[in-house]
Amino acid sequence: MAPVIETRLLNKIYRGAIDYHALHDIDLQVQSGEMLALMGSSGSGKSTLMNILGCLDRQSSGEYVLAGEAVAGLNDAELARIRNQQLGFVFQNFNLLPRYSARQNVELPLIYAGLSPRERHKRAVEALEQVGLGDRINNRPNELSGGQKQRVAIARAIVNRPTILMADEPTGALDTRTSEEILQVFQHLHKAGLTLMMVTHEPDVAACCQRILQMQDGRLIDDRQIAQRSLI
Ligand code: ADP
Ligand code: MG
Repeated sequence: MAPVIETRLLNKIYRGAIDYHALHDIDLQVQSGEMLALMGSSGSGKSTLMNILGCLDRQSSGEYVLAGEAVAGLNDAELARIRNQQLGFVFQNFNLLPRYSARQNVELPLIYAGLSPRERHKRAVEALEQVGLGDRINNRPNELSGGQKQRVAIARAIVNRPTILMADEPTGALDTRTSEEILQVFQHLHKAGLTLMMVTHEPDVAACCQRILQMQDGRLIDDRQIAQRSLI
């Protein structure tokens, strides 16, 4: 089967008074159903790579094919479409809208996807149930714990049924116990067939994946399969 992510000689140069070469010749293949961790010290290029793979930013050169589509040739509107159809994102700081309930936060991507209010409501509640938050659908973010907020963010990321879920330091703001709860949610979603890629600098978190990519100074220096630490 064709990989869901394939890059060839991907480079990123941030242009400025002084150019910064943040990614060097990244060759990467990710198959459907994989769960992988992207590791490396601060400044090694993890977020830069994730942002390009997530179609939030563009490479300076090289090829990137996402779910069979060459991303380099797409205009901004097409890039937004592929992002909405294929990708879900989770960030360290949840990025929830404070005035909206959990359900309304989760519904947001469905508004852009053009679903009816009734269908949006139903799908949002289902996604919240999937992450174990079926009893908190009407709470606002400030009424939820850090772990619960991250569950809402995960529900929002999966509500469009993406091909790939991308998470940048998803447990970075959480204590160890809460981190493990969130990793359990990820492992359940992975078991249900989702492809998952997460940035982390914590070995315990990476150990919950099946494959670890290691970055250093903008290069991919290691790529190996591991025996996954299962929490479910
Ligand atoms: P990581 O996520 O691994 O900590 P980043 O991908 O955020 O690393 O950054 C990689 C390198 O690129 C860093 O040296 C950073 O300073 C630089 N960088 C990131 N974003 C920009 C930008 N918008 N403009 C210029 N340099 C950037
Ligand atoms: Mg980063």
